[in-house]
Amino acid sequence: MQRIYISVCLIGILIWSSGCDLKGQPDAATGDKLRVVATIGMITDVVKNVGGTRVEVTGMVAPGVDPHFYNPTPKDVQRLGSAHIIFYNGLYLEAKMTDILAKMSEDTLTVAVTDAVDRRLLLTPAEFEGLYDPHVWFDVKLWMQTVGKIRDALSEFDADNTALYRSNAERYLTELKELDAYVKSQVERVPSEQRVLVTAHDCFNYFGEAYGFEVRGLQGVSTATEVGIADVQELATFIAERRISAIFVESSVSSRSLEAVKAAVKSKGFDVKIGGVLFTDAMGNEGTPEGTYIWMTRYNINTIVHALIGESEL
Ligand SMILES: [Zn+2]
Repeated sequence: MQRIYISVCLIGILIWSSGCDLKGQPDAATGDKLRVVATIGMITDVVKNVGGTRVEVTGMVAPGVDPHFYNPTPKDVQRLGSAHIIFYNGLYLEAKMTDILAKMSEDTLTVAVTDAVDRRLLLTPAEFEGLYDPHVWFDVKLWMQTVGKIRDALSEFDADNTALYRSNAERYLTELKELDAYVKSQVERVPSEQRVLVTAHDCFNYFGEAYGFEVRGLQGVSTATEVGIADVQELATFIAERRISAIFVESSVSSRSLEAVKAAVKSKGFDVKIGGVLFTDAMGNEGTPEGTYIWMTRYNINTIVHALIGESEL
């Protein structure tokens, strides 16, 4: 209780100290840029692509860090306080940031990018207690819907550059369309009975729906779910019975639980290999190919396909 009180106070002080005068329209004539803060790397990347040279975007959740558990640091709070626009995923992905994002929305344009996604296309996994599955970026076509939302928010704040945001968004959407086609062409290489994806947590539901994969996660949709021995055994039985050749570790989730599954499968007389590390809720390091949404998605599908069909080289 005391910790909650301290963090609320800290948020208040930092917002106050960051000052409202910083929130005015950036002056393009002096080279001022739009200050944007985004939560996950996948959103930061869309903002970079659509905002181009007009926008200075800071990502909050670093590569390899799990957004389900992420608590904003005092520095994050300061950045949020001086941002012109804040973008977040929504659908309860940033579960620990709900309060601060609500607070920020009182005087800053604060946008949940998944608000753009048609509700009829969102999934509601039974174990997520009536909430929508937040992992929308695994279906490239669904993620494309967030591009327009980001374009419109940038244009709303900085109307003078609407044409720039529009042309950047169009170019990026063309690249994403090509990416979607690439994922589909890679999936085609896997025999349909082998299209099963087993990972640490249940984040590939949209991927499964869009690209025709059966998906199984050891944990539920959120990494907050506890893993029990029964869960490990149940998944191990599934893998052994279906003779699934590979399962996948995630960059933002501990590999320990999947190692336990591998051992349990072995005790049932079948060998499953760890097919590689997938970038799931966080991208790769900035400056590496996997540090962008497009190359992270390409890397993931390449890793999945190569492991499942038994190719050794990427
Ligand atoms: Zn997740």
